[in-house]
Formats: sequence, C-alpha cells, structure tokens
Amino acid sequence: VSSRRIAVIGGGPAGLLSARLLARNGFEVTLYERLDPRATYGFGVALAGQALDRLAAVDEEAAERIALLCLPLRRWTMRREDESASVEDRGASGVQRTGLLRTLQELAAEAGARIEAGTAAWVEQVSPEADVVILADGVGSQGRETLGAELGAEVQNVPIPYMWCGADLDLESMTLFLRRTEHGIFCAHVMPYGGGDCTFQVDTVPAALHSAGLKEDQGEGDAGSDERSLAFLSDVFRPPLGAGELLGNRSRWSTFRLVTCERWSDGKCVVLGDAAHTAHYTVGSGTRMAMEDAIVLSAALSGEGSLEAAFSSFERDRRPAVEHLQWRAQRSQTWWRTLSNRYDLPLPVLLFSYFTRTGSVGLERLATSNPEIVAAALAHRDESHAHGGAELLQDPRAPRLLSRDELGGGFATLACDGVAPWSEQSRALVAGVGGERGRSVVLTGGGDRRALLDRFDVAEEMRTATGAAVAVAVPDDALDDAATAIAAGRLDYAVKEG
Ligand SMILES: Cc1cc2nc3c(=O)[nH]c(=O)nc-3n(C[C@H](O)[C@H](O)[C@H](O)COP(=O)(O)OP(=O)(O)OC[C@H]3O[C@@H](n4cnc5c(N)ncnc54)[C@H](O)[C@@H]3O)c2cc1C
Repeated sequence: VSSRRIAVIGGGPAGLLSARLLARNGFEVTLYERLDPRATYGFGVALAGQALDRLAAVDEEAAERIALLCLPLRRWTMRREDESASVEDRGASGVQRTGLLRTLQELAAEAGARIEAGTAAWVEQVSPEADVVILADGVGSQGRETLGAELGAEVQNVPIPYMWCGADLDLESMTLFLRRTEHGIFCAHVMPYGGGDCTFQVDTVPAALHSAGLKEDQGEGDAGSDERSLAFLSDVFRPPLGAGELLGNRSRWSTFRLVTCERWSDGKCVVLGDAAHTAHYTVGSGTRMAMEDAIVLSAALSGEGSLEAAFSSFERDRRPAVEHLQWRAQRSQTWWRTLSNRYDLPLPVLLFSYFTRTGSVGLERLATSNPEIVAAALAHRDESHAHGGAELLQDPRAPRLLSRDELGGGFATLACDGVAPWSEQSRALVAGVGGERGRSVVLTGGGDRRALLDRFDVAEEMRTATGAAVAVAVPDDALDDAATAIAAGRLDYAVKEG
C-alpha cells in the first residue's frame, strides 16, 4: 500500500513482529507499549514449530535468533497422583516470554522501528499522525472496545479459573500433574523453557476453587500475587514439586476470555493477535497465532494494492486457520472442564483421550508414533469387555463399522442432531436414557465431521452417566475417528449409517 506511517499499539509478539517486518520493508513504524521493558512479566509460553518455519521464509535472521531461545519439547507426560505415562509427538518449544519479547524488541529496533516503551496509547490519539493503526494490544484490547460494533467483537468468559505461576523444576517434557483434593481436581500444565525453569499453570473448576476458600482476582495491589493461593497450590502439588518452589509473578486466578470478531479491520485500523481472537491456553497456540498474524499482515501491507485490499487479503488468509484453531481449542476446553467425569479411567486410556481430544490426532497416527501407549489403552478395553462378559465385536486395531444386525437387537435409535456435548441440552438427552436403565442406544444425526465428533462426546457423557452401551452411526469415511473414539472410551460401538 502507499500509506507509509504505521502506528502499532501493543508490544507483545503480534505488535513487535509486525513492527520488525514492516520497518524492514521501509515503513515508518512507531510502536507504543504501555509497560516498561523491565516490567514485562510471564514465565514461558509454547511456540509451535510452524510459526518459526513461516517466519524463516520471510525473515531468516529473526527466525534464527528466536530459535536460539527455544527449548524443543517432544514428550508429553501425564502424572496423576503417583502414576505416570508419556507420549512422544511432533514438538512445540518452550520459550521464556520475557526473553522472546526482548529479542523481538531488539529485532524491531534494528530494523528501524521506533519503540515508545512505558507509553500507553489509544486509537484516537495515534490516528491523526498515522496512515495505518495496528491494534496489537492483547486480550483486553482497548482498541477493540473502541471499535467494538464496527468489528462485531464479542468477549465471552469461560468459567475455568486458572492461575499462571512458575516453578524451579527440572523437567524434560511437557507435564500434566493431576491431583484430586477434598475440594475437587486441580491440574497443573507444566512446561519447561530452559535453565530448570517451568511455567506452572494451574486450573480447576469454580466449585473446587470456592470450596478451598479461594477467589478469582485476589492479590496485593496491582503488582502482587495471590499469596494464599500460592501456598495452597504449593501444598496440593508438593509431591511433584519435591524440593522445587512454586513462584508467583502477578499470579492470580483469572477467567479465560474467548475473543471473536466478525471483522478484523475498520477504516485505517486493523486488529490482530489476542486483540482479534483467542483460543483456550490448553492448545498453547496464542503466541504462534500472534506471530503468524503479524507475518501475513505485514506481507499484505507491503503489497501493491489499496489498504482495504490489504486488510481483506490478511483476513482471507488468516481467518480459516484462526477459526479452525478456535474450534480445536473449544474441544480442548470442554475436555478439561469435564475431566472429573473421566478422571478415574486407566491412565493410558486417559492419556489417549487427552491426546485425541481436539480431533487433530487420531489412533492411526498414534499407533505408529506411540505403539506402547495405544497397546496399553486397548488392552484395558479388551479387559473391561472380558469382565463385562461382552463379546469384543469391534477391535480398533482392525477398524470397521458394524452393521445394525451385528449390533443385535435392544439398541434404541436416538436422534442427536446439533446437541452440544456436556451442555443443558445433552444433559436432558442423557436424563431420558437414564430413566430407562439397561437400555442400549444408537445415536444418529447428520452434519459434518465437527457434528460427528460432538456426537461421540455426547456418547461419552451418556455412557459415563448411565452405564448404557452407546453406539454411534458413523459414515464410511470416518473410520479412524470412530476407532479413536472407541479406544478413548467415548463410545462402545460404531455402526454403519442408514
Ligand atoms: C495464562 C496464559 C497462558 C498462556 N500460555 C500460552 C502458551 O503456553 N503458549 C502460547 O502460545 N500462548 C500462551 N498464552 C497466550 C499468549 O500469551 C498470547 O496469546 C500472546 O501473547 C498474544 O500475543 P499478542 O501480541 O496478541 O498480545 P499480548 O502478548 O497480550 O501483548 C499485548 C501487549 O499490548 C500492551 N498494551 C495493552 N494495551 C495497551 C495500550 N493501551 N497501549 C500500549 N500498550 C498496550 C500490553 O502491555 C501487552 O504487552 C497464554 C496466555 C495466558 C493468559
């Protein structure tokens, strides 16, 4: 575009990388970051490999310097009480957030961007001097608030309280520590990022938090951590922490905010990163999404066309990936919210269920990359069928769909179209089945793959709550999804549609 003066509000990964790439392309960039550089906080964040590959394609030097900060992680471990199981997968990296931001600031300044640190800015203030205003001011974006109606912005609070802490723990893998207390289940999502430091992020359900006498957003003044909660969590996680300490840095219970926007630009303003969209932290993709947004937006603005065309091209490129991630994140968030319903599954089955929760990894892939964990999960299925006296009609090792005849009589058909799992609606459906104990059910319904995966989750909810055998009608091309769901204990049988 011909506009040359760019104001960027917000110096997180989205703003800083945009500033770097645009300044390199000859734009006159001023970036405003309200925090003093020494005040930046946060422990480590996950960075998926794709983000650096994409960056390397446009800025090799930046990608190389960021790669130096990254601790590659290929192993996920689940430790529930005293048990432990692991899987290996294609990796992400752990990176210290402060280190990443410092490097991005240097890269932006070296490219010629002016960085006004310790200076808050807002749209009305920077607009007169700028041809383009990039709003990269994070999840609580004031800019998005200002343009709210124009962007069709919506912010939804997701009732899973979480607290972002750190710990000095020498771990080699991403680790999920699961602990049951008298108040309920507390989970720590722990990620090493080098030097024996870990991000130690804990979440739970509101009932457990309140039963423990803890509350959201308690802390000393603006900068303090919630010391009572830190002490409580240090106790809960003492066995895995060992001699390690739980560390706070403005650590308090918060509620995840899901941000969506129908449009990402208005006039000369454009939103990106967390200001435009968020995805639940349990898919660990916020930093990657912010960086990918910056790469695509900078390329679009550096092209020939009008500003409007550049913004459209940015949105056309990024929106499908963002919406796909938000869908996966929604599934992940639901899995964590409903963990207590499957907490006591044999650990290999629980780990398998966790790893396949978003629908992006299936049995086929895991059977190749992690044959032991798949074998262990399936051995539990064989065993439970043997004990129940049931014939093992369907073996996920050789997946196929059963015919209704093979399934036998006694299965009632229940239409399950557009029912969101673990919702009021699904609870009503489950209650109907629960009223007729001993019944077996086939769930049917149309729709795409998303609808089918939802139906598998309704099946899980139903068989967990009622003990009924639950089958789901599955199209021929969804064999791997069906085998995955059976191995994860989401359903008993998959039958041919029709
Ligand atoms: C608990 C938690 C855990 C997370 N874990 C992960 C993880 O493991 N992996 C991962 O990839 N992501 C994680 N994320 C998300 C990740 O931190 C964000 O998605 C990512 O930082 C988004 O980048 P951004 O640049 O859009 O916004 P941010 O990083 O939030 O940056 C926005 C910046 O704008 C500044 N700002 C705000 N208002 C103004 C103003 N008026 N003027 C000037 N400056 C302003 C803020 O100070 C801030 O520095 C986590 C987030 C949370 C809350």
